[in-house]
Amino acid sequence: MQLQKNIVSFRNHTPDLSISLTDEDEEPPDGRVEILDADYCLLNTLSTLIPSFSAFEDSSVKAVSPTRRKKFRNTFFPDVTAKQWNSWHWQVANRIRNGEQLSRFLQLSEDEQLAINGSGTSLPLSITPYYLSLLDPADPMQPLRRSVVPTTGELTRGPGEADDPLGEDNQSPVPGLVHRYPDRVLFLVHDFCSTYCRYCTRSRVVGHGAINPTTSRFEQMLDYIRNTESIRDVLISGGDPLLLSDDRLEWLLSNLRKIPHVEIIRIGTKVPAVLPQRITPKLVKMLRHYHPLWMSLHFIHPDECTPETIKACTRLADAGIPLGSQTVLLRGINDKVETMKGLMHGVMKMRVRPYYLYQCDPITGSAHFRTPVEKGLEIIQGLRGFTSGYAVPTYVIDAPGGGGKIPLLPESVAGREGTEILLRNYEDRCFRYPDVV
Ligand code: SF4
Repeated sequence: MQLQKNIVSFRNHTPDLSISLTDEDEEPPDGRVEILDADYCLLNTLSTLIPSFSAFEDSSVKAVSPTRRKKFRNTFFPDVTAKQWNSWHWQVANRIRNGEQLSRFLQLSEDEQLAINGSGTSLPLSITPYYLSLLDPADPMQPLRRSVVPTTGELTRGPGEADDPLGEDNQSPVPGLVHRYPDRVLFLVHDFCSTYCRYCTRSRVVGHGAINPTTSRFEQMLDYIRNTESIRDVLISGGDPLLLSDDRLEWLLSNLRKIPHVEIIRIGTKVPAVLPQRITPKLVKMLRHYHPLWMSLHFIHPDECTPETIKACTRLADAGIPLGSQTVLLRGINDKVETMKGLMHGVMKMRVRPYYLYQCDPITGSAHFRTPVEKGLEIIQGLRGFTSGYAVPTYVIDAPGGGGKIPLLPESVAGREGTEILLRNYEDRCFRYPDVV
């Protein structure tokens, strides 16, 4: 392991938020939808429905209770009204972006302080106040905290790690567009997220303010899609596309919808987990005009299934948007069968269908997050047969070098005897199937 040489101090990255923050596009939550202090009895009721607040099979999962979250707000944001707290613009404008700010809320460990103040990572620090309220102030090993607070593990480059392990830059016919599979493209709108995940596959680009949602860049990407008739599916990602203003996002969706061969539009986002306030009635009203529109939602842990997130997913599902989850397998965060099962059950209760479980990509500084592949197989083995088939995601490795997603399955075909296939079930018992020859 070699210490990264590119010592770059933790900069106060200032992405261009003009589009997100100055447009008059926010519909303040009304009395029916906002979560007011008085609603905490409702939160307690909801808490019985979701794993993160109820008795949980995995004793290491210690979710932040609604009472503690209320105390967090009263302590750190006493003058902030419920309307402000529930405004996604307020949440974005008040992100925690450096060590000094973060140390007001968390008792930073020596390792965290070293990583934040000593510098060395190019992925900026950013956490919404909402997501911060879910973090344990005293325990640096708490799963959600580990996912967003830098540690020195980020500073080392392990064997086989790379800044762009998936080779996206080599499969980009025009800037911001990745065309890897025959019938679909990845459309990167910008490089901004409200909260940066320390294991981000695109940590080489996100948060640098270098990819901007300009019309000229979008037009170039749209032209490529217009001229490539094999493209029937466009995945809008980033950065987080839901950090665009409603107007900007609608401009893009309407232009994609005008292309006759684009059948499906998908949006990849972590907003329901880190900034559920963004899912406003006005946003979903706009989105429902662009069906068939699908969404892939990024979740990593049952603690993210809060009442606010349930509300956000409910709005999206009620707008007829099919929702799928994407989860990165992360060491010490979700690498136990019971934690993963809790997450899969949690998202299903929010009407999100478990979709992909990703082996963590070998990005630079990811060794402390990566598990052996054996661990992923063990988790799938622990889910299949033991819970609903719908609750079992497809475990994949996104092949380094641009090979695409390759599914991994525990061995279920034990062999063949004559015309019979020997099969192993979830209890490790063998069965025979008379194959057709
Ligand atoms: S939300 Fe997605 S793009 Fe943004 S930091 Fe997390 S993993 Fe990266």
